[in-house]
Amino acid sequence: MTNTQALHADAGDVGAAVLDESATDAYPLLGLLSCRCCEQRLGRAVGPAGIRTYGCAAGCRSTPIDAAAVERVVLDTAERIDPALVASVVVGADPTDVYIFWT
Ligand SMILES: [Zn+2]
Repeated sequence: MTNTQALHADAGDVGAAVLDESATDAYPLLGLLSCRCCEQRLGRAVGPAGIRTYGCAAGCRSTPIDAAAVERVVLDTAERIDPALVASVVVGADPTDVYIFWT
């Protein structure tokens, strides 16, 4: 995952979600994910049950995206090709509804 993490910038805080300041490393897709609805970057957040999530600051989503689920989909796909070639990922309605753009 080192190659993928090197591409990421911090997308910052997300709306009313609780920002997890200490867990940047725990969000390997930070800076790559964007919201299909508003096209803004998804930021890190902690869900109500304490689970890691990615959320949209514009409030397009009634529920944030489960981080582990979307990471599994994106990273599994990326590793089959080359994680360093992932340019961006647009996330739709749920963690499996992703569009990966390659460099
Ligand atoms: Zn949005």
